[in-house]
Amino acid sequence: MSELLDNLYKLHLLDIKLKRIHDRMITIPKRTEVLEQRFQRRKDEIVEHKENLTSAEVERKKIELDIEQAEDKINTYQNQLQKVKTNEEYRGLEAQIEFQKSKINNLETQEIELLDKIDQYQDELNEFKKRMENEQQRYEQEKEKLEKEKITSDQIITELNQQKQQISQIIQPRFLKKYERIRNAKGTAIAVISEMDFNTPGTTNDVWICGGCNSTLPPQIVEEVKMNTKMITCEVCGRILYYDRDEI
Ligand SMILES: [Zn+2]
Repeated sequence: MSELLDNLYKLHLLDIKLKRIHDRMITIPKRTEVLEQRFQRRKDEIVEHKENLTSAEVERKKIELDIEQAEDKINTYQNQLQKVKTNEEYRGLEAQIEFQKSKINNLETQEIELLDKIDQYQDELNEFKKRMENEQQRYEQEKEKLEKEKITSDQIITELNQQKQQISQIIQPRFLKKYERIRNAKGTAIAVISEMDFNTPGTTNDVWICGGCNSTLPPQIVEEVKMNTKMITCEVCGRILYYDRDEI
C-alpha cells in the first residue's frame, strides 16, 4: 500500500507540473497576438507620419505654383501699364498689381508655416524610424522567445506524459481510476497532510490539516495516514490523504 500511495503521489506531482506548463502554454497565442499588434501600431505610426510629410510637401508645391502665377500676373499688368491711355485704366491695373502682391505675401506666410511643419514632421519621422529599429529588434527577440517556449513546453509535456505512463503502468487500474475520478472532480486527487503551525499560546501543535481543503483532521485519521498502509480519503473534500515523509 505504501508503494501504491507513493506512486499515486508521484503521479499527482507530475499532473501538477503538467497543469502549470499547460496553463502557461495556452497563453502563448494571446501573448504572440499582443506582440504583433504592438509592432503593427509602430509600423502604422510611420506610415501615418510619411503621409503627413507627403501631403505637406504637396501643399507646399501648390503654394509655390500659386506664387509663380501671381508673379506672372504682376508682370503682365506691369507690361500693360506701359500701354494704357487713361488714368482710370492705370489705377485699375495698379489695384490689380497691389492685389496680387498682397496675395503673394499671404502665400509666403503660409509657406513659412508649412516649412516649419515639414521640419517637424521630418524630425518626428526620423525619431519614429529610430524607435522602430529598436522595436523591430525587440519584436524579433520576443517572437523567437515565444516560439522557443512553445517548443520547450511541448518537449516537457511529452516527457512528463511518458513518466506518467510509466508510473500508471505499475498502479492497479482500480486505484488509477479512483485517482482520475477525484482529479476530474477536484482538480487534484492527492492532499498532503501537514501539521498546523500554531504561534498562539495555549494551543497544541499536533493539529493536522488536509492540504486540499485545509480542514482539521481527526487524530486517529492522522495516525492512519502516517502509517501509509491504507488508502484514506479526506471526509470533507474526498481527496486521497498522503503523508509526505520527505517534506515533513
Ligand atoms: Zn480535504
